[in-house]
Amino acid sequence: MGTLGIASEKGTIPVRQNLFEKDNSGQAVLIGSRCEKCGNVFFPQKAYCDRCNAGDLIPIRFGRYGRIQTFTIIRQASPEFKVPYAIGRVDVDEGVRIFTQLLADDLGKIEVGQPVELVLDRLFDEPNGTEITGYKYRVVRRQK
Ligand SMILES: [Zn+2]
Repeated sequence: MGTLGIASEKGTIPVRQNLFEKDNSGQAVLIGSRCEKCGNVFFPQKAYCDRCNAGDLIPIRFGRYGRIQTFTIIRQASPEFKVPYAIGRVDVDEGVRIFTQLLADDLGKIEVGQPVELVLDRLFDEPNGTEITGYKYRVVRRQK
């Protein structure tokens, strides 16, 4: 397990430990686990493999990119959530499907199959002002 650089940033803490960290270049990466016995990959990390019951799982970092498998736009929510926003599932290269909030400049242009990249973003603030950070995926802007 690498160091959780995010945890040490002042006034910002991750929503849960061991979900994500920053790699050596300062980019956010998710942390999953891979079964040494059968090769199955999980996110979030697990202690035992669902497929073969082995207990020898090792932590792995996922790449930062994936593709939208499905999504929906939320237009009504309780008052603490600003609408509209998009949620969906992202397929990452390691073969895992991740449920996440999706970010885009224009929510109306989100499409299935679009490439997305991992970002760390504010989820909510604690009453004492501490910002709670989580992972989201943002649509990759097209190169001109
Ligand atoms: Zn296994």
